[in-house]
Amino acid sequence: MLKIVPPPPPMTPAEKLRESVKRRARPDGMIQCNRCGSRTIMTTVTGAFIKNGRKSGGTVTDKDVCYHCHQRGIFSQMLPELKRIK
Ligand SMILES: [Zn+2]
Repeated sequence: MLKIVPPPPPMTPAEKLRESVKRRARPDGMIQCNRCGSRTIMTTVTGAFIKNGRKSGGTVTDKDVCYHCHQRGIFSQMLPELKRIK
């Protein structure tokens, strides 16, 4: 059976900007979010202390997460967690 697929809706200005950022040449080895194209990486620490004027301790809760996706409530890991094959 032959079906006609409607054309996709036109991109919003935000989507156009996002796509152009993703298409830009990325310096070799630079970490970039595959979802939004951001290059801002975030690591959160819970329960840190200040001792002698320096931050110490705490538990890393989110590591290498895209900051801009996180602001929109999306969890986007920027570095793949490579697990050893047994
Ligand atoms: Zn992102």
